[in-house]
Amino acid sequence: MVRVRLTMRDMFLFTLVTTVGLLAAFFYMYESSFAASVSPAFPGGAITISFDDAWDSQFENALPVLLEHNVPATFYVMTNPVKNGDYGYMNEAQVVALTRLGFEIGAHTKSHLDLTALSDEMLVEELVESKEYLEALTDREMFSLAYPFGATNQTVIDALHTAGYTNGRSAAQAPRLGFSAEGQDVFTFGSFSPNTAVPLERMKRAVDQARERNQWFIFSFHQVGQYGGEYDTPPEDFAEIISYISGSEVPVISIANGVERLTASVEFED
Ligand SMILES: [Zn+2]
Repeated sequence: MVRVRLTMRDMFLFTLVTTVGLLAAFFYMYESSFAASVSPAFPGGAITISFDDAWDSQFENALPVLLEHNVPATFYVMTNPVKNGDYGYMNEAQVVALTRLGFEIGAHTKSHLDLTALSDEMLVEELVESKEYLEALTDREMFSLAYPFGATNQTVIDALHTAGYTNGRSAAQAPRLGFSAEGQDVFTFGSFSPNTAVPLERMKRAVDQARERNQWFIFSFHQVGQYGGEYDTPPEDFAEIISYISGSEVPVISIANGVERLTASVEFED
């Protein structure tokens, strides 16, 4: 008899503990989904204007538009042409001027090679020397890198960690076209490169979608001028899209700022 009573008591306790546990689990799930729906990492969306390769057309043709509309941007600098003073690229004084104006400088490696195809030694050289050069030039710590051709893999990401980068920007992965939702990995987030096949209206729609879906949309521009390249953006188109973004009330943020929010969002979910 005693044994039966104990068993029933055990069963009661077991049921009680299980019920409380299930309720706690449901409450946690409910709270998580509720919190996620009311506190997105990018309320009202976010836009980033980024530039690749350090073309001097960005300084000549894009910078005045950015200053006119008072919007931030991130410039990913390929360092060898800047260091060597190559024709068609920004010079050191221009990169320093961008820093002083408050723009974020990121690295785009030394010489724009496919990082996934390099020896370990060359990989480290491309990542470390470009970072050290830019930090010495701008007198700022630097954390952001854009992969040349958007090409990356786990070996490259591990090398980025070791070199002291906190994030890596890749290329668009269809069908997301560069949208990065909260929880997105900070070493593989995508971006969208406007090219001559993409109508201006499509770019404006991307801005609207970022607002409607509370998403982060990153533009990666190349030449801002018409030189016959696939990724050239005519200056008048650039001016129109920046004016549209500026009037859209979608916050414009730097890469560093967006990554901060992504990281905070990941920690929150844990
Ligand atoms: Zn590039």
